[in-house]
Amino acid sequence: MYPQGPAELSAGREQLVSYSRRMLDDGLAVGSAGNMSVRLGGSVIITPSGVPYPDLRPGQICEVGLDGTAISVPATVSSETPMHLAIYAATDAGAVVHTHSPEVIALSSVFDELPAIHYAIHALGGAVRVAPYTRFGSDGLASAATAALSSRRAAILQNHGAICYGRTLTEAYERALLLEWLARTYRLARMLGEPKILTDAQLAEVAAEARRRRYGEAPAEERRNSG
Ligand SMILES: [Zn+2]
Repeated sequence: MYPQGPAELSAGREQLVSYSRRMLDDGLAVGSAGNMSVRLGGSVIITPSGVPYPDLRPGQICEVGLDGTAISVPATVSSETPMHLAIYAATDAGAVVHTHSPEVIALSSVFDELPAIHYAIHALGGAVRVAPYTRFGSDGLASAATAALSSRRAAILQNHGAICYGRTLTEAYERALLLEWLARTYRLARMLGEPKILTDAQLAEVAAEARRRRYGEAPAEERRNSG
């Protein structure tokens, strides 16, 4: 299920460096904040701590076992490694992305949940929970994040940031971008008044329709016009 081998290790390291740089360009983090990882068979490769993203090189990406055992640690391993490992243990994640994105952090300081302001939130599993504040790098944060991710693919960490996972790093990263966009959209709506929020039934209908289209049940013409 999870790719492994020297070629996958090398490609995974390159991909972590390129998405780390994108995180700066997309405004999802500043400096060396945030971190991301990819699961390879029985191990996890993860960005190091304290290396500014423009300086990050594939050779500095760390590799640890699923239990946290050091396999290759050429730089200080990410302080949030326990949170990443807890998510791999609790879900079928192939990659995890942790951001310090501003809209999400602002929301987390005021609200306990990002409600379904737009139907695209179905890709994250529904309304996104805010996990109560716990210090960065702590086991408490790892368990709070994992609990908030129950039947979700994204969670918000109060006064801290966001955590998203996916089958691939691309999918996890796209979810982090989507989450930030949804938080911004919710803020804009709140500035205008009291937003209408989609119901669970409306979201379930969206999820069912997305599934139907993904499995090719819709006629080709309809699929081309979807979105
Ligand atoms: Zn963080």
